[in-house]
Amino acid sequence: MQLTQYGCFIDGVWAPASSGGYVEVLDPATGSLIAEIARGREADVDAAVASARQALPAWADSLPAQRARLLAAIARRILNEQEELARLESLDTGKPLQQAQADAVAAARFFEYYAGIADKVQGASIPIGTEFFDFTVREPMGVTAQIVPWNYPLQIACRGIAPALATGNTVVVKPAELACLSVLALTRICHEEGLPAGVLNVVTGLGHEAGAALAAHSDINLLVFTGSVQTGRNVMRAAAENIVPVLLELGGKSPNIVLPDADVDAIAPLLLKAAFPHAGQTCSAGTRVLVHRSQHKKLVERLSALLKTLKVGPGLQKPDIGALVSRAQQQKVEGYIDLARQEGATVIQGGVWQGDTDMAAGSFVMPTILDDVGAGMRVHQEEIFGPVLSIVAFDDEDEAVRIANATEYGLVAGVWGKDVGATHRIARRVQAGQVFINCYGAGGGVELPFGGYRKSGFGREKGLDALLSYTQVKNICIRIES
Ligand code: NAD
Repeated sequence: MQLTQYGCFIDGVWAPASSGGYVEVLDPATGSLIAEIARGREADVDAAVASARQALPAWADSLPAQRARLLAAIARRILNEQEELARLESLDTGKPLQQAQADAVAAARFFEYYAGIADKVQGASIPIGTEFFDFTVREPMGVTAQIVPWNYPLQIACRGIAPALATGNTVVVKPAELACLSVLALTRICHEEGLPAGVLNVVTGLGHEAGAALAAHSDINLLVFTGSVQTGRNVMRAAAENIVPVLLELGGKSPNIVLPDADVDAIAPLLLKAAFPHAGQTCSAGTRVLVHRSQHKKLVERLSALLKTLKVGPGLQKPDIGALVSRAQQQKVEGYIDLARQEGATVIQGGVWQGDTDMAAGSFVMPTILDDVGAGMRVHQEEIFGPVLSIVAFDDEDEAVRIANATEYGLVAGVWGKDVGATHRIARRVQAGQVFINCYGAGGGVELPFGGYRKSGFGREKGLDALLSYTQVKNICIRIES
């Protein structure tokens, strides 16, 4: 089989990185080489930013209705190619094909949604007396730099690109080296649908090379970063040098709180589903279940029984749990399961691959429940980013809230119970950017604002709130001659 080599996409042209180097892309289910991506570096980032800068005035001044039409056409193409995009995403990231199919539909939704908004970004007139006419306009930020992680490359790229383009910004994307083939396919689609050269540029490569060069670039106007807390800290520091605003979407350790009157039989499958999307490699996964002590034993029994039914395997075979993205990620997760044992948690099923030996080349981890977890344990505090769900018992509402808020994160929370007053009181007290009551949407649809409290980041993506992130307000005041 001929190996596909992908270049960077700069100024409307695909080309190898200026250094000529490539990075290998592996199938996490088999460990085999599936493609090579260009190893872009500072010179490629410079060229991409220069192209985005040059394209900016014409794109920012283009008719909003024209931008809307183009975004709508891209959405249709994504839907037409959804099967191929999903196959690529599943192969590259290891995630189950049915989850990748949902990602492809969500990707199209981002373009549909922001296509509908492109010509409705309005300002206000402000009454300050008859001598003046004062009004505001929302202008694009300018050149946006967008650094994307490997877990949901297609969705997260679309989450940033669609609102940026709709509001007249140009874009330079640095996708993750571990998985980005779907982002390159999306770029091809945008180009084929007629997006002008320079409006969207993509520099592939390593985080500490291309990513760091982009974050530190002096000619960007907004830095949109999704990834880990540590890298978020680094890119924020780099952007601070140039006084570039940042939008940070970081990690999570989201709680699902099960109240005494919750229907445990009905919700147990939903709690597992909330915890294990993309084998738990999801920032908004509900990885902690906080259960009222009266329901603890019953819930653990239900969850343990369901855990045994989950099918683990290569993403393209539509399992419940696919491979983790890399061997390093697999080892990290296995390390956390060992740590849980050392910390005194009860490990149910437990980590290391127990299936066919011919799958040992893939980075699989058995889905795992950690029971009897204490709020102070590291496995309760830290983002494991694998198929590991921890369970903590609580005695009353105050304790539930205290444990829910006892991590550095604050991305999503779920509350389950019949007492509307109790669920709502908890929703108000939980520190999280999104709270679901008797449902769990792991980030929710494109219409719902999404972002973190505390170390889960700041700024909001999705929904109408994203327009605040991708535009800046200009106030214009005119003195009227009497
Ligand atoms: P990561 O921080 O290692 O990498 C994210 C991106 O940053 C990649 O493109 C990488 O190449 C790049 N990068 C790495 N080092 C860099 C540097 N020094 N300068 C600039 N760029 C650099 O994160 P990851 O491991 O790819 O993703 C997992 C993390 O992302 C988890 O913590 C997860 O919770 C978080 N995440 C958050 C959201 C959200 O919306 N809140 C969504 C998905 C993932």
